[in-house]
Amino acid sequence: MKQLRLILGDQLNSDHTWFDTVDDNTLYVMMEIKQETCYVLHHAQKLIAIFAAMRAFKDALLAQAHQVIYLSIADPSNTHDFEQNLNKLIKQNKVERFAYQAPDEYRVDELMSAFVNNLNIPHEMFSTEHFLTKRDEASNFFAGKKWVMERFYRHMRTKHKILLDEKQKPVGGQWNYDKENRKKWSGKPAAQEDTRPLHDHSELWSEITSQNIGTMGNPSAEAFRWPVNRTESLAVLDYFINYNLVNFGAYQDAMHTGNFRLFHSLISFSLNVKMLSPAEVIAKAEQAYVDKGYPLPAVEGFIRQILGWREFVRGFYWSHMPEMGEANYFDQDKPLPSWFWDGDTKMNCLKHSIKQSLDHAYAHHIQRLMVIGNFALLMGVNPHAVHQWYLGIYIDAFEWVEMPNTLSMSQYVDGGLLATKPYVSSASYISKMSNYCGDCSYSSKTRVGKNACPFNSLYWNFFQKQKEKLTNNPRLGIVNMQLEKMSDEDKEAIRYQASLYISDAENL
Ligand SMILES: Cc1cc2nc3c(=O)[nH]c(=O)nc-3n(C[C@H](O)[C@H](O)[C@H](O)COP(=O)(O)OP(=O)(O)OC[C@H]3O[C@@H](n4cnc5c(N)ncnc54)[C@H](O)[C@@H]3O)c2cc1C
Ligand code: SF4
Repeated sequence: MKQLRLILGDQLNSDHTWFDTVDDNTLYVMMEIKQETCYVLHHAQKLIAIFAAMRAFKDALLAQAHQVIYLSIADPSNTHDFEQNLNKLIKQNKVERFAYQAPDEYRVDELMSAFVNNLNIPHEMFSTEHFLTKRDEASNFFAGKKWVMERFYRHMRTKHKILLDEKQKPVGGQWNYDKENRKKWSGKPAAQEDTRPLHDHSELWSEITSQNIGTMGNPSAEAFRWPVNRTESLAVLDYFINYNLVNFGAYQDAMHTGNFRLFHSLISFSLNVKMLSPAEVIAKAEQAYVDKGYPLPAVEGFIRQILGWREFVRGFYWSHMPEMGEANYFDQDKPLPSWFWDGDTKMNCLKHSIKQSLDHAYAHHIQRLMVIGNFALLMGVNPHAVHQWYLGIYIDAFEWVEMPNTLSMSQYVDGGLLATKPYVSSASYISKMSNYCGDCSYSSKTRVGKNACPFNSLYWNFFQKQKEKLTNNPRLGIVNMQLEKMSDEDKEAIRYQASLYISDAENL
């Protein structure tokens, strides 16, 4: 029976059982769809990386003698519509059976369900064989209870027998070593050089630009250092395990003007398009703990991100869609300042974090959460504008992982279903974890007056403004107490200073 199997751009899992056998009756189809490049303004490197990785995957399948139909972005026979392309191929090739892998994005899942419902041939949805949990596993785990990552993480550690001793207890006696992982970085230990691959993608980039697709960010070959096939992805992972994992934990929250990634792994793109599997990444990290005697807080901290956070936010996404995409707990409605697209601001922390994002399509977790997201929330920016910016700019931004992190964790749109309190801070946190404040036009020490750091007045203004919505939050007891003790004059001065910054957002 002739069958057509669809492979989406983030389903590049070469270990999938689909590819165990080569079969003359099986046709694979991969498509570069223009609409998928335009629903938000994407970083040039993200489009290049996805298409380059898809093309490399196609070449690898062809080399194994699989049959692949590949519709590239500039192919005249590409209608740029999933449904039309598929219907045409089914007819042309007399296909009798259709198969696809479960999409990770709600929108694409809906689209595929609608498509197969109208099909008059048998069809089947397969697992991507990538994640450690099923779509609804976390939601079943938390049925009727508050979503708490730490509980889920311990369950995952036990279920998958990761970092457990012979009594099935956590090695070292603790589940979580986060408290030991909060060091500032001042140049030592030395950060490793960037050994990621370089590519000449000029032809692909010309094809993309020939289609009048708008992009942001730096498309140059020197700036583009992302792995685009499994071999390159494994090399990036191995380099991280051998040289950076040892320092990952201690410096995972640190930020520095001289080094954009410090000891982070840079594997999120490879993971999210499934060139790497979470199971193999976790196994390599655990093995490094056994073989190399790496500090437990470093290895546990890294494993928690993948075994815990990554699977947790995915479960949260499937459990809270489509409502999450609409929520706006604080009713925020301001636009993003236009300097989000060029980084030209006097605020040094934002200048570095945004310019780095435009250059590398990358910022690490704390830059995303405690610099950029923190600022947007304190300024009253519409969370959905923030979400679209994050979805476009980051190399690893796929909605199932980007949306819960941006909307629920960073912008608190659901009033605390995922985060236990809003992730906001004044300048003191940024100053503690980075060297940004030293060179800044603003003073991190002052709340009001000329050149006072915007984060300081915005922070206290936020808690005054949102008092009613946050007053009963048990994790904000100290903040609420500090606010109570503040004189009315001080509160008024803070509100005034914040209003100046909010109304002059373009010129900060
Ligand atoms: C506002 C905001 C938006 C984010 N958007 C995305 C996104 O679109 N795509 C994405 O993959 N991650 C996102 N994250 C999580 C995290 O910032 C990135 O996974 C990480 O920076 C990727 O870099 P890395 O590979 O060097 O990760 P490392 O710091 O080395 O961590 C290792 C891996 O752990 C996983 N991980 C770590 N934190 C998280 C998390 N909170 N949620 C899910 N997985 C996690 C990633 O797969 C990552 O590759 C976001 C975080 C925030 C605060
Ligand atoms: S002083 Fe304020 S604006 Fe400047 S770098 Fe520090 S936190 Fe950012």
